[in-house]
Amino acid sequence: MPIAVEAAAQLNYMIIVKKSKQLSEYIVLQKAKGLTIGFVPTMGALHQGHISLLTNAKKQNDITVCSIFVNPTQFNNAEDFRNYPITIAKDIERLIKEECEVLFLPSTSEIYPADYQKRHYDLGTLESMLEGYYRPGHFQGVCQVVDRLLEIVQPDNLYMGQKDFQQCMVVKKLLQLTGRQSINLHIEPTIREDNGLAMSSRNLRLDKKQRQASLTISRTLNRIKQDLDNRPLEDLKREAKEELEQNGFVVDYVEIADANSLQPAQSKGQNLVALIAASIGGIRLIDNMLLNGYH
Ligand code: AMP
Repeated sequence: MPIAVEAAAQLNYMIIVKKSKQLSEYIVLQKAKGLTIGFVPTMGALHQGHISLLTNAKKQNDITVCSIFVNPTQFNNAEDFRNYPITIAKDIERLIKEECEVLFLPSTSEIYPADYQKRHYDLGTLESMLEGYYRPGHFQGVCQVVDRLLEIVQPDNLYMGQKDFQQCMVVKKLLQLTGRQSINLHIEPTIREDNGLAMSSRNLRLDKKQRQASLTISRTLNRIKQDLDNRPLEDLKREAKEELEQNGFVVDYVEIADANSLQPAQSKGQNLVALIAASIGGIRLIDNMLLNGYH
């Protein structure tokens, strides 16, 4: 297999690999040649946010691997999993156009084989706050899949979106917990539609009215940022929540937190982030905005 894969690579084709073992073998060969590997894990239904990660990975690495795998273990809600958009033919076309070198497209049994040993990741308070609180088990699932993917892909550089702010913190912790500090985690800015809506695969499920209402999320985040110096934190959060509710959202949280610890901000120090999670018509959207710098 590595011979066929090598030949495809030399012809500048995108290689699609479905088997973990084959991908690992291919990567070992490339690394032996001194080539660097950039990795962009996704759940597919690709949009410009994913592509921005890929573009940066391509700039900074010899070979870029993108994975598409809708990981069942990170869905705490069965309906959300069932309804997750799948657009694989389009995704492949897009990745070829963007000159991605390798697409890893595993089945569930490739990621979680019969002898898979489930482990628990000690994420501390990150596990039970914000997303962790509203989606119990979600971050254990994220760690399971990222741990497995990193084991298979062995990248030098890993690319993730600030859009999933808490997930980035969890993955940073995972790299420490699993002794993979040599992997550089690149956290890339959130890509938005022209109207401010953060791009998300779940946006595909929004109808026209819901899409319009969804602009409330980035609008309220921007307002929090604008008014931060002049208004009490509690008022900013309460007003954002009210505006979201008036526009048809069920709000899980509007929080202004310390960007390093994610603990609710007690004062307007440096490094604050505003985070929102809210659902419309059962479609749950998240977004966040850095308020005053990030170190
Ligand atoms: P997903 O397919 O939703 O699991 O996302 C795969 C990766 O793309 C994650 O690292 C996300 O944070 C990132 N991502 C998703 N949406 C965006 C966006 N609008 N801008 C930048 N990155 C994003």
